[in-house]
Formats: sequence, C-alpha cells, structure tokens
Amino acid sequence: MHKSNEIVIVGDGFAAAIMVIHLLRKGVPASSITLIGPGEIGRGNAYSCASQSYRLNVREDLLITFSDDPLHFARWAQSHIHDPEAKTTAGYFYRRHDFGRYISELVSHELGLRQLKRIPTKVTQILRRGDDWTLSLSNQDQLIAKQLIIATGNAPPSWPCNVNTKLASPTWIHTHLVENPWAGEYLQEVGSHEDIILLGGGLTALDAINALVEQGHRGMIYVISPRKIFPPVQAPWQRQQEPKWPKQLSPRRFIRFMREYLPSVDAATSEWQCSWEELRVNLNTIWQQFSSKQRLILLKRVGWIWSLYRFRASPQTIASYEQLRAKNQIHFILGRAQLISCARPNIKVLLDNGYEAVGERIINCTGVGVDPLLSNLITSQLAIPDDLQQSIAVDTNLRVLDSNQKAWENLWLIGPATMGSLGDVVAASAITKQAEQLAEQMKMRV
Ligand SMILES: Cc1cc2nc3c(=O)[nH]c(=O)nc-3n(C[C@H](O)[C@H](O)[C@H](O)COP(=O)(O)OP(=O)(O)OC[C@H]3O[C@@H](n4cnc5c(N)ncnc54)[C@H](O)[C@@H]3O)c2cc1C
Repeated sequence: MHKSNEIVIVGDGFAAAIMVIHLLRKGVPASSITLIGPGEIGRGNAYSCASQSYRLNVREDLLITFSDDPLHFARWAQSHIHDPEAKTTAGYFYRRHDFGRYISELVSHELGLRQLKRIPTKVTQILRRGDDWTLSLSNQDQLIAKQLIIATGNAPPSWPCNVNTKLASPTWIHTHLVENPWAGEYLQEVGSHEDIILLGGGLTALDAINALVEQGHRGMIYVISPRKIFPPVQAPWQRQQEPKWPKQLSPRRFIRFMREYLPSVDAATSEWQCSWEELRVNLNTIWQQFSSKQRLILLKRVGWIWSLYRFRASPQTIASYEQLRAKNQIHFILGRAQLISCARPNIKVLLDNGYEAVGERIINCTGVGVDPLLSNLITSQLAIPDDLQQSIAVDTNLRVLDSNQKAWENLWLIGPATMGSLGDVVAASAITKQAEQLAEQMKMRV
C-alpha cells in the first residue's frame, strides 16, 4: 500500500489536464497531485484520435481553457497549427488531434520543471477507509487518497444490442465489428469498395463519414438510425441578446418558450443558431431548478432534439456528407438495431421493424457506454445514481452525494458525467468552468 496521496485525480483526459492546470495556477504544489490514467495527459477519448480527419465540432474561439483569456487556444492555433483546411466561413475548425497536442503542451508549460506523480493504469474500485479513499488499480496495486477527483469522461461506447459472433474468428470480429470508433484506428483497415454500416446518426457517424470520404471510399454507406437526420452544420453565429425566461418554469412552459424563441427557419442558418446559443446560456441554471421527475420528462420529450442540436458538425464534415449524398453513396435505414450477426463476409443487422441491413463492416456510432468505476461506487453504496440514471449524482459544488444524499467532503466528479445533475456539461468550455470552480475550493485545503 502506498503512503497517503494529498490530491488524486482519476482520469487523464481533457478534464484531468485542465484540472491540473487550474490547481497549479491557484498555487497548489505539483508534488501534492497524483494523476492516474493509461494515456497521454489531456488527450482522452476525444483528442487522442489517430485519424487526422476528425475535426473539432466548434470553432476555435469556443474552446476555452481559461475563462479570463478565452482566446488562448485561438492564438496558440494561429502560431502552432499548420492546417490550411481549417478555415471556413463559420470560423476555424481544427483537427481534434491538434487540440490534444495543445492541451498536452499546456500542461507541460504550466508544470515547467515541476513534476506530477503519474500512474499509468486504471482505477478499478474506490472504497472508503476512515476519512480517506482507497483506490484499487488494474495493476493490482492500491493507494490512498485524501482528496479524490474523478474525471473519467465519457465511457467508451458498447454495442446497443446483442451481437452473435459464433460464425467468425475473434480477429475478423475485432476488425469488422468496430465497437469503439473514437480513435479511428479502424479506418486504415477499411477496403475502399466495402459496404459500411454506421449504427447511429450523430456526430460519431459524421466523423466516420468525413474520414471515409477523405480516404476516397467508393462503397455504400448505410446509416441505421430512428430518424433520417444528422446534426446540422455549424453556421457563423454570435449571441445578440439575452432571452427573458419566464419565472417558475414547468417542463411544458420551458419547451413552449424555447419553441417560440427559436425562429422558424432552418437549423443550419446563422439566425437559428444565434437564437439557440442565446437560449443555451441559462440552461444549466434552469436544469438544476427542475425536480428529478421534471428532468426525466424533459429527457423523454426533448432529449433527442437536444442531442441533435447541442453540437453541430464542422463545415468540412458536412461537406463530406453532401458529397456522398450527391453521389447517392449514402442511404438511411430507419429503425433500431436488435441483433447483429456475422455471416462472413457479411454482417447482418436485424432492426425492430423486421428489416435486415447487410454490410461488410459495422461501426458503432451510438454514443457512450457505462463507466464501471461509477457503477461500482453505486453498488458499494458510496454514491447514488443521478436523475437520468446515467452517472452518479453530485451537488452544485461538484461533490459526490452519498447514499443519504449528503455530499462527501473529499470526493468530487467533473466532466460530462455530471450532466444529469448539472445540465449541459460536455463541451470543453463548460468543463473548464468546473475545473476553475473546483480549483478555487481546493486551494484552501492543501
Ligand atoms: C469522440 C468525442 C469527440 C468530442 N469532440 C468534441 C469537440 O470537438 N469539441 C468539444 O468541445 N467537445 C468534444 N467532445 C466532448 C468531450 O466530452 C469533452 O470535450 C472532453 O474531452 C471530456 O473530457 P474528459 O476528461 O471528461 O473525458 P476524456 O477526455 O475522454 O478523458 C477521460 C479519460 O479517463 C480515462 N479513464 C476512464 N476510466 C478510468 C479509470 N477507471 N481509471 C483511470 N483512468 C480512466 C480514460 O482512459 C480517458 O483517457 C467530444 C467527446 C467525444 C467522446
């Protein structure tokens, strides 16, 4: 057992990196911080991608790492990124890989000659020991944390239905049934004439489309999704005004107000996106005022619309999609997958409406899976599920709630997993605000 560690951060992605940067800026000594995670700091699921075709889905001035210097990344990008294709009429949309490089360099710069303690592995379980936390690691080691911050991000996606793999070898399955496409390594295996099935119609599917077009794909692309619609393209937008939200909102009044506020024009226009982004500013505060029941009602009624429009896609990505459409090389198949089966060289997907889709490779673009570490915390009764049953519950100070709904004094959660409790916390800028808020709290404790 290691000796006690002052501040332990579980996770090594964007949230962990930005947390380290803000702790250091608040004067917390680097020697008091231990970071546990298997990858290069700052890259995580979004920015460690091998594919150069994966682009950021927001323009450069929205990737905020310091609230008091919002253009820090935009300036860095001008002098450190050579990417002539980044410029569009809606702003610069850089490669995700380059943003990962920015975050890694930012951490190194902030550290200077100091060093963090890094443990390149995963945490499998967290248990309470007196006033501290005991962490079990996947390398069989254990360590103790006095103050613990969980920043494990979006859990990698898993198949949303049963997969029958009886008739194929593990190697073939591994390369032809791509369960987690976020890093994009699978792309180099794809034959240019293959028929590809994309399961899901969100930003991950658009990433795959952009990458396949950039590598000159000739085969058909089938998109299985309940709706024949992709997130729209990012248009140039600026917030012009602040909406005057009615007081005492119910879910019904909330939806009505949003509907009336949004202009009746296409969601791909600047006019629509300006209004949408004006509404977004207050959403977290409003979300936090709703009861558990009201949050579930909202998720059921407008959850899918929210996921569709919250982020739009980069203009480069949508241009690739348009290219495929013009060549009739992309086809939507409406429905939800119930069973994936392999009949080499084909993969078949049975949908809930009885239709069977056939292709040579399937890419899972359906979104996030379940984080085993957070599930363990619930099973051990150290945490409770959030209202959406997608993660664990936290209070507005990011403190994890115990089984009596009381906040732990030394256990915090930051990043997208706080969404069910706090609202729209997925974008880099929202995570930065959390890290700044938590670093302010923690500087008094060390
Ligand atoms: C594919 C993808 C693309 C995205 N693109 C954009 C974008 O263009 N713009 C934008 O603003 N946002 C984007 N996002 C949103 C994203 O949520 C945030 O920008 C941000 O990257 C989340 O940071 P994070 O640290 O919480 O998660 P991550 O950066 O994913 O980091 C979590 C890290 O924790 C590690 N980890 C997990 N479990 C454990 C464990 N038990 N022990 C130790 N380590 C563990 C993982 O290996 C991972 O490296 C994207 C998200 C994804 C998934």
